[in-house]
Amino acid sequence: MKNKLRVGVFKLSSCDGCQAIFLDLPSLWEHLDFRYWFLGKSENKLEPIDIAFVEGSVSTQEEAEFIKEVREKARLLVTIGACATSGGIQALRNFGSLEEFSSVYPKPEFIKVLKRSTPISEHVKVDYEIYGCPINPHILENFVKALLHSRRPEIPSYPLCMECKLRGNICVMDAYRIPCLGPVVRAGCGALCPSVGRGCYGCFGPCKGANVESLVNWFEQIGMSKRDVVRLFENENAYSETFRKVLEEKVE
Ligand code: SF4
Ligand code: SF4
Repeated sequence: MKNKLRVGVFKLSSCDGCQAIFLDLPSLWEHLDFRYWFLGKSENKLEPIDIAFVEGSVSTQEEAEFIKEVREKARLLVTIGACATSGGIQALRNFGSLEEFSSVYPKPEFIKVLKRSTPISEHVKVDYEIYGCPINPHILENFVKALLHSRRPEIPSYPLCMECKLRGNICVMDAYRIPCLGPVVRAGCGALCPSVGRGCYGCFGPCKGANVESLVNWFEQIGMSKRDVVRLFENENAYSETFRKVLEEKVE
């Protein structure tokens, strides 16, 4: 245990898809001492740890209190996935009324949630953010290995278009006029969708310096309606500070 990093993997409102990535990375297990991880072990105690990996957004009062307790125990706090980093799909309700969304449940009176579903950074200090829905195992592996070797972790922040170029893909926007969020989305998936002729719909969140306004203008120039532009941004990262402007400004 001596040289292992003491870690906790915590889940708030989410689907478990991001924390499940740890199960896919046996090469890390010998270096990590999981002190808290409900998906992976039965005995869990909230105690001082080196790294808290947090999946999920804050949707309930209990979660808002719990994340503060986690922050107090952790030397570093790392959000994993779109839910934790920008609110996830569940944050789409922030653009409408809670009553409207609750009405799909047979007994909406049983639902006790906060008015908005929010990213972890709105509640506590976050040291690193790993985007994706789910996150890419290689990025998580490189991140942990960097910390194990006392290196500064590198998380891609450049646009997805870079990955398309590296794969030699034909640009789906230029060649086929297929709407694609690649120019404003963070690399990390290996340009999966454009590699099979589809546009990116943004599950890796906004890249650094994303010029969303310019891309929206381009979409409008190729004849997309404002509603279709908004729909394209209505994704797991819609509530990120960079993308939410489109939903707030462009809805007619
Ligand atoms: S980011 Fe996606 S895969 Fe990860 S917990 Fe949220 S919904 Fe699941
Ligand atoms: S939607 Fe975009 S970020 Fe997500 S897998 Fe497809 S290309 Fe990658």
